[in-house]
Amino acid sequence: MQRPDSAELRAVREHLVSYSARLLADGLAVGSAGNISARIGDVVAITPSGISYDEMQPGDICVVALDGTERHATEEPSSETPMHLAIYAATSATAIVHTHSAEVIALSSACDELPGIHYAITGLGGPVRVAPYARFGSAGLAEAAVAALADRSAAILRNHGALTCGSSIAAAYDRALLLEWLARVYRLARCYGTPGVLSAADLAEVSAETQRRRYGIRRSSEPGSSDPGTSDPGTSDPGTSDPG
Ligand SMILES: [Zn+2]
Repeated sequence: MQRPDSAELRAVREHLVSYSARLLADGLAVGSAGNISARIGDVVAITPSGISYDEMQPGDICVVALDGTERHATEEPSSETPMHLAIYAATSATAIVHTHSAEVIALSSACDELPGIHYAITGLGGPVRVAPYARFGSAGLAEAAVAALADRSAAILRNHGALTCGSSIAAAYDRALLLEWLARVYRLARCYGTPGVLSAADLAEVSAETQRRRYGIRRSSEPGSSDPGTSDPGTSDPGTSDPG
């Protein structure tokens, strides 16, 4: 197991604290709701339970083994640690952001899916599923989250919140912002009537064009900013930004 004081883990702890503060600033969470984690080899660094994001320090970040058997933590790890570990076990994601953002929760209470009414949803792998409700921290929630994430880098937890993954904390966080924005756009569209939805063919065409346009950029981009040449939404970062 990786040493809890390694330079890599220290950097990740600081990253988790700075992105946690952004959760508040960006309106994706209140108080200590939600959680962020990153996988480094065989361990997972995750935000603690019950510490307000504006008070969190790098030393408060918990480190748990990928299989959940061992931990180095002064604080209690997030109550959603089982869900994070289940997602790491089932996907190749290396970062997860879980929020209690308002637009996504509102949608989750009334819809079974966030449909593709804007092509940016291809940045999440396509229309985003709403997982059935299960109590926070439960094995049932972890299972439902993993199922809803199939072929996606985002999922919505009914009457609970949002979940996004990526190959870096930055990528997973950008997707959390994108998911919240798409939910808001969908709510606004419904004010006008029944929104038109992009077809699977429309979305596939966007994904193909995005890959084509980004390929040259990715070859010269710094490692970790994006993952070239993979269609796995758990690892690839097909772009939360508009390529065109
Ligand atoms: Zn939650």
